[in-house]
Amino acid sequence: MYLSYGRQWISDDDINEVVKVLKSDWLSQGPMVERFENSVAEYVGAKYAVAFSNGTAALHAAMYAAGLKAGDKGLTVPMTFAATSNSMLYVGAEPVFADITLETCCLDPKEVESKMTGDVKVIVPVSFAAYPVDIGAFRAIADKWNAVLIEDGCQALGAERNGVKVGCEADMTAFSFHPVKPITTGEGGMVTTNNPDYAKSMKLFRTHGITKDAKEYEFAENASFGWYGEMQQLGYNYRLTDIQCVLGLSQMKKLPEFMERRRELASLYFKKLDGTPHLRLQPYHEGHGWHLFMIFVDPDKRLGLFNHLKENGLGVQVHYVPVHLQPYYRRQFGYKEGMFPKTEAMYQSEISIPLFPAMSDSDVDRVVDLIKNYLEQV
Ligand SMILES: *Cc1c(COP(=O)(O)O)cnc(C)c1O
Repeated sequence: MYLSYGRQWISDDDINEVVKVLKSDWLSQGPMVERFENSVAEYVGAKYAVAFSNGTAALHAAMYAAGLKAGDKGLTVPMTFAATSNSMLYVGAEPVFADITLETCCLDPKEVESKMTGDVKVIVPVSFAAYPVDIGAFRAIADKWNAVLIEDGCQALGAERNGVKVGCEADMTAFSFHPVKPITTGEGGMVTTNNPDYAKSMKLFRTHGITKDAKEYEFAENASFGWYGEMQQLGYNYRLTDIQCVLGLSQMKKLPEFMERRRELASLYFKKLDGTPHLRLQPYHEGHGWHLFMIFVDPDKRLGLFNHLKENGLGVQVHYVPVHLQPYYRRQFGYKEGMFPKTEAMYQSEISIPLFPAMSDSDVDRVVDLIKNYLEQV
């Protein structure tokens, strides 16, 4: 059986809920949107949540609500999925990068401090692999420079730090519901925030910048016209459908169980892979959400191990090619090798091995045996 590095877990109860919505009056935005938003907001402990068609749209909306614009810079980490910094480009701003610390594989607050300038308007740490990044460590820097703190939590729904869930500490936190992420809606995303102005701005952004709320109209004299809606900003069609939201709502019920199983599987890997030659394991945190289980091998053994695992039916992956080394970023901004040594070192040795809640203990044994057999012989 093929074991992917991550995959969804859909059961009959999820399917039944989706079928009910398909038979209802609402397929696009209906009552399920707000119910799903409320469920995520409540779970993470934030006041507001706004659903989007995917995590990338959620990040785009957060950049917009933060007021990021042409001439500004956004600071993030090059060890992430391209969507993090792409969302800054969408609003015309320039992404700049600061390196990770290998203790967390996440953005290093000290590196951020040394890179700050007055034109950096947003700081975007990523809770990479669902390691819960320490938002407190970035708060003082953001406040000092008057920057908005946006967490890319796309991998990290369910992770927590000192009992506080990812999603309520940054000014805004973006989540993704792609099938490999902690819960899925097929495609989907959300931003959580405690700031009502950000929430309002993101809702407008989600629907073309058009409001149907008469209290908000600039031309109040039109309020009595039933057909009237007012486009006040340039927005997009970034709606998440009721079909997807009801799936999300159903998945939210199972999230605690999913998280528990991810933690069990991760501790099995820690126990069974301990002491394997040429191998290091990913940073541990008690509130880790284990979106990915990353192993680090000697760089000269990485390609061989990767191919060995692939040939034996494991859907392993490398997370990620550093964003600054992608051709587009090299061309546009002159980035090259050597600029972010820790990110590049991580990239040279990383492999993400299978971890998803529907995996069995014997699946773990199969992965562990394949890794050990290879590394004990090279
Ligand atoms: C998945 C992911 C995104 C994008 O989410 P989509 O729903 O695929 O658009 C952004 N940032 C990170 C770190 C991700 O893992």
